[in-house]
Amino acid sequence: MTGLLAGKNPDPILGQDAAEALLQSALSSGRLSHAYLFAGPRGTGRFSSALALSAAFICRESPDGWCGGCRDCLRIMKLQHPDVRVTFPVLGSTRPDEVADLIEKRGRDGFTRLAVPGNSSITIDSVREIQARMALRSYEGSGKVEILLDVDTMKQEAANALLKTLEEPPPGTLMILTAERASGVIPTVRSRAHLVRFGRLPVETIAEIVQERTGVSRQEALRAAASSDGSAGAALEAAREGGALHEMLEKGFDLLTVRDPRAALPAARAMAKTLGPSGSAGLCSGMAAMLHDLRRASLGLRPVFSAGDPLPGAAAWGADSIGRAVRIFLEGEKRIRANVSPAAALAAAFTGAWFELGRDGR
Ligand SMILES: [Zn+2]
Repeated sequence: MTGLLAGKNPDPILGQDAAEALLQSALSSGRLSHAYLFAGPRGTGRFSSALALSAAFICRESPDGWCGGCRDCLRIMKLQHPDVRVTFPVLGSTRPDEVADLIEKRGRDGFTRLAVPGNSSITIDSVREIQARMALRSYEGSGKVEILLDVDTMKQEAANALLKTLEEPPPGTLMILTAERASGVIPTVRSRAHLVRFGRLPVETIAEIVQERTGVSRQEALRAAASSDGSAGAALEAAREGGALHEMLEKGFDLLTVRDPRAALPAARAMAKTLGPSGSAGLCSGMAAMLHDLRRASLGLRPVFSAGDPLPGAAAWGADSIGRAVRIFLEGEKRIRANVSPAAALAAAFTGAWFELGRDGR
């Protein structure tokens, strides 16, 4: 196959054959619309496809697609091209450096979600910035692209400001909007953009994407895919969290055998920072599960899941202390889910468990 996807790795529009065919035919026939609306569930490749289309629009190496290897293509994929700009919903309180950080992170890992928590939307200020940029000539002379994410969150005022630009975009510009549901987009905006639908992805396809991008085992990729509800983005995040969690569990057990419990404080803080609230709660429940297994082993019962290699220092722990440590971590999980700071809850859980287990001699 030539064109949009030729020789690209990772393939950005994997599993979206209808969308790909539509864009490919528009590109090959030179009848690209000036504005597209990519609508479909979260994590199904809308943004990756927007980048692929931007690259096809700008790349000078490949006549009806993108080469994937030139300076333009590489910078577009890393979100560093001055002529391909991304705008996403923010809050009034979101600082420009937070926006820049998210874009940088997404450009690096390819799946961080460009979103801030809360009731965010593309603001009228953002729309004015887009218009100012579009009025300028492109930096590199091959056209300009503006990508607007989640336009279904746009308020009427911002949408109205965008209409004129959508109607008469300056020559040499392309606008790509995304939304979860086309029906959620303000009709006047929707009617001015060419609709391209994205569907949920099959589990096999998602597993392939997860394996390719994160290098986890096929089994892990399939597990992440199975619980992702057709969203490659959700599966990628789950796989990333899973990988980090595994590493943290090992570190966690090391912490239970350190000589000085004060080491637990900075370590807990670092773990909480890496894992975030839901990952930190997951770490507590993972620690509890593994300790519970150790307790079974110490009572001569078969472990539920293998705790892996025998833990140095754990041999001295008695079933009762391990049982108390299990409860401490379960309590830690509960506290984090009740919004206690993950760093504080982890520090308390690790120190508490350290003291309990220390009763049996360290
Ligand atoms: Zn190129």
